[in-house]
This record gives sequence, C-alpha cells and structure tokens, in this order.
Amino acid sequence: MSARENPSRPVPNPGVMEIAAYVPGKSKVKPGVKLHKLSSNETPFGPSPAAIEAYRAGAETLEFYPDGSATELRKAIAETHGLNPDNLICGNGSDELLGLLAHVYLKPGDEAIFTEHGFLVYKIQILANGATPVVAPETDLRSDVDAILDRVTERTKIVFLANPNNPTGTYISDAEVKRLQAGLPKHVLLVLDAAYAEYVRRNDYSAGVELVSDNENVVMTRTFSKIHGLAALRIGWMYGPAHIIDALNRVRGPFNLNSAAIAAGAAAIRDRAHVDEAAHFNDTWLPVLTGALTDIGLTVTPSVGNFILIHFPDGNPEKSAAAADAFLTERGYVLRAVGAYGLPNALRMTVGSAEANEGVIEALKDFMGRA
Ligand SMILES: *Cc1c(COP(=O)(O)O)cnc(C)c1O
Repeated sequence: MSARENPSRPVPNPGVMEIAAYVPGKSKVKPGVKLHKLSSNETPFGPSPAAIEAYRAGAETLEFYPDGSATELRKAIAETHGLNPDNLICGNGSDELLGLLAHVYLKPGDEAIFTEHGFLVYKIQILANGATPVVAPETDLRSDVDAILDRVTERTKIVFLANPNNPTGTYISDAEVKRLQAGLPKHVLLVLDAAYAEYVRRNDYSAGVELVSDNENVVMTRTFSKIHGLAALRIGWMYGPAHIIDALNRVRGPFNLNSAAIAAGAAAIRDRAHVDEAAHFNDTWLPVLTGALTDIGLTVTPSVGNFILIHFPDGNPEKSAAAADAFLTERGYVLRAVGAYGLPNALRMTVGSAEANEGVIEALKDFMGRA
C-alpha cells in the first residue's frame, strides 16, 4: 500500500492546503503612539447607543441558549427593509453565510467565479469545499459582466459578486447585475455581497432585493460589521428564495448567533438616525479625502463605499505602497496593504474620524514631499 492510501497522519480534504489563510487588517502600533485603525472598514461612529444597551441587558440571562432562529433580529431586518422574515437567515458574520453557501452548493470538480480583485473570503470558501476558483478579470478595477459570463462552464455553480467591491470601492449598476443574472444558467447561484450597500449614493445602484425576489438563483448578503458598527459581535444576514434559506438552515449551527448579537443587531438596525448620520459623514469625507490625496499626486480609485483605494507611484521604491504603509504606521495610521488582492502598490484606507482622516492627509503630504 502506498503512503497516499495509508497515510501516517490525518490528511486534510482536497483544496484545504491550497488556502492562503485570511490575514485581518493590522491593529497595532508602537507603544506611545495613538492608534488610528483604518484597516478593516470599521465605522468611526461605533454602534447605536441602543445596541450597546441591548448588549449589556443580555448579561442578565447568559445561562440560556439563544433563540436558534434569531427571530427578533430577522423581524427587525424584515421591518427595516420591507422583506418577508421567512426569506431571511442570519449568520455569525456574513462570512459564515458565504461559507454555508459554498458548503451547500459546491463540491470537488465544481467551479465558482469571482472577480480579479474580489473579496478574498470567496476563494477561501471555494477551496475549502474542494471546488475550483475561477477568476474573472476586471476592467479599470470594476467587475466586468462579460468577463464573468465568458468564464461560465457546465461546471460553474456559484458566481460571487461583491457590489460595491472591497478593496476597490467600485460598483456596477443594477442594470449590469441584472444582465449578469440573465446571462447565467438557471442552476448557477448568484451571490450578491452588499456589505457596503448603506454607503452607496448612486441612483443606478441596487443591493439586489428585487433580483432576489424575482428569481430562484439569487441571494443578497449583508452585514452589521460596517455601517452598524457591530463587527465584534459577528452578525450577517442573507435574503434569498425559500429553497436556499431552507437548505442553509439545515446545515448551519443550531445556535449560530449568540443572544447579544441578536439583541444588539435588532436595536442597531432600528436606529435609522444613527445609520443616516454615519452615511452622511461618509458622504462628506469621501470627496474630501479623494481630492486631497489627488492634489498630493496620488491616484485614488473613485469609491462608493466607506474606504478608498490609494495608488502609489510605480517605479519609485521610496514612494511605494510598502514604504507609505511603514511611514503611516510609524505615526499611528494603520491602513490595509492589499498585495493579497493583486494590488501590490496600493493601500486601502477606511474613512475614519475627522482627526484620523486629516492626520493621514498630512502624513501622506510629508511622505510624498520628502526627497
Ligand atoms: C466586511 C465585508 C463583509 C462582512 O463580513 P462579516 O463577516 O459580516 O463581518 C462581507 N463582504 C465584504 C466584501 C466585506 O468587505
């Protein structure tokens, strides 16, 4: 018998060892320097005070299992977005839901498509289920519907589309997403990851509710980690056709959301004024940051999210993204290196507090101005 048939130790399933483990945004600077964490698209506003209160109230009943159906949270989401709660499922972050979708619909030999600079979790989940990742090139750092459709084969089972995409901050219009769906075979699942939908201010954008409602092969995932400021509690949700919700409910952990997440999430989504305030702050800062950094001589990809992608000059190691990253970190400004996303000479910056944003602009002025 060969070593392969009779291994000397447990062997992971196919695909697992091909995964490059996800590296979260940095969160440390040297002692004595004030940290401005702008590396994970977290909100400078924090969560709604009502969410914090709901979280604290949960401390009184920690001996009880949570409601395994997250009823209160699904009800709050349904009311806010005008959806049927039966078509909602919540997850321990939308990451869990993306993983469940891959687990339910992918097996070895299947293919799943995502875009060139798409969110890294897709590739991880595809490989984790032994399926084959297929990358569709982008055009000008934007998802390209024709490139995606060109890569569909009879083995394709899922198309993952972050819209807006992270880390590019770009989006494609509702009409383009509809054209994508119309071009897919009926059995191919289209996953619309709308983690930043609340920030988008474009008339031709849609997070995908209508497309989900009208079809059997589209789902939309959302998160409480970004505009709702609850990343620590890990809360995501998905709107989808009944047959997909049913399949995911069979494989998820029976208590995949904890009580604090259910209570705080419900309070957060009901506090619409808090959400509006955060979105408005972002509207103000996106153009200011983009303008100021462009004036310094940097290139910024136009973003509709709560972050911007900053491109550093090519062919000048002293002004590279890596050099800027070190320079900023030294001063307490922690941005996100995006080499793993195929963007080695760019940094992604979350729109932070006014103090943090102004600090980054000043620091990058210094950085670019140095001989
Ligand atoms: C931040 C982010 C998420 C959210 O993940 P959670 O697990 O809900 O925290 C999902 N998709 C994209 C593209 C993101 O950037």
